[in-house]
This record gives sequence, structure tokens and C-alpha cells, in this order.
Amino acid sequence: MMTHLSVWAQSDSLIFRQLANQIMLHGNCYDDLRYLCKKIGNRISGSESCLKAINWGAETLTQAGADKVWLQPAEVPYWVRGAESLKVRLPNEKEWRSIRMLSIGNSEGTNGQILEAPIVMVEDYAALKRLTNDEIRGKIIFFNHRFPQEIINSFEAYGKAGSYRWTAPNIASSRGALAVIIRSLSTGDDDEPHTGSMRYADSVRKIPAVAIGNHSADRLEEACNKGVVKAQLQSHCTMRGTKMSFNVIGELKGSDYPNQLVVVGGHLDSWDVGEGAQDDGAGIVQSIEVLRTFKALKIRPKRTLRVVLFTNEENGLRGGIAYADSSKAHNEHPIFALESDAGGFSPRGFSMSMPLAKRKYLQSYRQLFLPYGVYDFEQHGSGADISPLEKMGVPCAELMPDPQRYFDYHHTANDVFEIVNHRELKLGAVVMSQLVYLITQYGL
Ligand SMILES: [Zn+2]
Repeated sequence: MMTHLSVWAQSDSLIFRQLANQIMLHGNCYDDLRYLCKKIGNRISGSESCLKAINWGAETLTQAGADKVWLQPAEVPYWVRGAESLKVRLPNEKEWRSIRMLSIGNSEGTNGQILEAPIVMVEDYAALKRLTNDEIRGKIIFFNHRFPQEIINSFEAYGKAGSYRWTAPNIASSRGALAVIIRSLSTGDDDEPHTGSMRYADSVRKIPAVAIGNHSADRLEEACNKGVVKAQLQSHCTMRGTKMSFNVIGELKGSDYPNQLVVVGGHLDSWDVGEGAQDDGAGIVQSIEVLRTFKALKIRPKRTLRVVLFTNEENGLRGGIAYADSSKAHNEHPIFALESDAGGFSPRGFSMSMPLAKRKYLQSYRQLFLPYGVYDFEQHGSGADISPLEKMGVPCAELMPDPQRYFDYHHTANDVFEIVNHRELKLGAVVMSQLVYLITQYGL
């Protein structure tokens, strides 16, 4: 009987199986992740632990069998949190109650002083707009904007709610507010506060910005509906200039087209809470695993495979920018870049940013991926670290795992090694190695 697969596709499906066997049976990525999380821990850009992670990344890529490993400098912002607390006094109560909170990354604190002011709750920007300046001036604005749980793809929902972390402090500050509290960008039915990045507009006073968990936000909402709630905010966070950091790069030289680069990576930095396990330790160890697996199976790629462990994705993107700048300066030819920065959950597909013809070409391999649970090649978009490459016209893609749990953990103290499943993590590395194999072999 004739098979539907052509001869070349049969040999590809055999290679796919070998890649899967190698990683599922002998993969190192889970052990690597344990080391990164437990021995190094969280690693915000510019910190000592970020430097440790950089050295570890270089060593691990060397052990994985890279022909060449090097560090690429990038000057990064150095933001420090310090001690912080938020207390509220409910209507008709005398006692102050502590609320779990995290300052939003890059935000300024209160200089260690206690900032006391009444809270004004709004649901969204439209509601803030309806308030007079007198109602906002001297107040702490509580943006009680809910994560849109009805949106099935949580990354899409995150994108929609994101501006309440990114720009709410600017909007409130421009109207004379003293600080903002946001409901965390969180899918969790829990009280975990989620940090993340924000950026002050040049024109506004840099007011403190903090996030609280969903349960605390529910209670605060209830209290604000009953009467005036006062808050006391105290924090030491501040931006301490810049520091030198590095992308870690390791490569396997291509046998036939060494100048055609296939980039695969994630970001090595993390927030300063938890262990940066799903975000983005998972993407780091999966990217290293791709190279290790090629080496272990003695696959010499036809095009150069380059693994990049980017620095400073979380609060500056300086690593991604430095890589793209260097690529331009050295007149390099990346033919494809793949990022893993959506968690080490079961892979479902690859989202892509590339011209239609290339997208269709990759979609033509769908059958080969189906036995590995990967079926969705329809989504658009790619990773933040490779977005500067995308702007240069490089075809980009991102591993797309099941998105339901990522925003329970993202940027929280709960993003630790224990929440990563070893089979799901490895399976992500398997399908990354499969896609990278196809492109290093046949081009794009
Ligand atoms: Zn990330």
C-alpha cells in the first residue's frame, strides 16, 4: 500500500522519533532547570545571581557540545526592590490590615517613607476619565481591572489587560494621584501578587505602583464600595542606574551553509521573586537541550544552529536589542529565530511572524508534528527577545504551549521549579528540536 508520506518525509519522521527518544529518555533540561532554579534562583538583570546564571549558561552550553561559546555585552537597567508593605484601613475600622503586594518592576517607591492617602477605586481608564481632578489629586488610585478570564488564549487576555500595569501609573500621575494599586495580571483564583514591568513617561512624576492578588483585590473592592478606605504604602524600590550584563551565545557551525543562522533561545534573566522557572528558565534549558540533542545524535546541521540566552527581557529588552544590533553590525544572516518564553507546559503549536509563503511552508509539516501533540500553526506573533530581529525582517516563531496555567505563576513567588512537569518541559524541547532540525536541514 502506498503511504501518504513521501520518502523524504519518512526519513524526517524517523529523525523526529530519534530526537524525541533522545530528549524524553536522556534529556538534561529538567536537571538543568533544577540547578538554575535551586542553586542560582531568581536573577534580575544586573544582579549577582544574574551574573552567576550567565556563567552557568556558558558552562552548560559548552558541556552540551557547542563548537563555540561566547558572551555578548549589553548594558542593562538595575532595579532593586527592597522592603515594601501595604496596609489598609477599612471604613469604620481603627486597625490597619496588611495586604500582600509586590511593587511593579521599574517603579519608584516611597523612599522608605509612609505614604498615607485615601484610595479611589476605578474599574478602567474610562471610569478614571469621568472623575474630576479634585477627586484624583492626592489619592491612591486602585485600578480594579479584571484579567479577562473569558478569553480562552490567556496570552491574548494578558495583552489586553497589560496596559493597566504598563501605563496606569502614568495616567494616574498626570491627573495628580500619589500612587497606584493594580489588580494583578493574573488568571489565579488566589492571593498571589504578580510583578512585571512598567515604564514612566518623561512628562510625569514617578509615583509608586504596586500590584495585589485577586483575593485581596476582591476584598478591597468590597470595602471601597462601602466607604472610604485609607492606605499606607511604604517601599524602598528604585532604579539604580545601569550595569553590564551579557547574552550567552553557543553555536554548532553549519556544514553546508555556515553563514545561514538559525537562532533559538529564551531569556536568562527573571524577576526578583520566585525562581523564574516557567518564565523563562524553561525556555533557557529547552534551547540548550536542542543543541545538546543534535550533538548527542551526531546531527551536524547544514545551517548554523545558534543558541542565545538573552539577558534583560523582563525590564528592558536590552539583550534582544544588543543581539539584533550586533547581527546588523556584523552583516549576519539569520534565516529564522525561535523563542521559548511561554512556559514549559505541553506544547500545542508554534506561533509565527513571517511572510505568508514561509508560514505556509512550515504549516506543510503539520502532519509530522501531530504525533507529538503539536497541531496549531495558525497563531501570529513571536517572542519579545527576538522582536528586534523580527523588525529587521527575520522570520520568527515562538513555541506555544498550553496557555491555561502560565498566568497563575508568571512574575510571582510561586514560579518555582516544582511547578514544572518534566515530561511537558521535555516535550517542548522535542518539538523545538524537530522544527529547528527541519529549518537547519532545508532552510526557510
Ligand atoms: Zn519571560
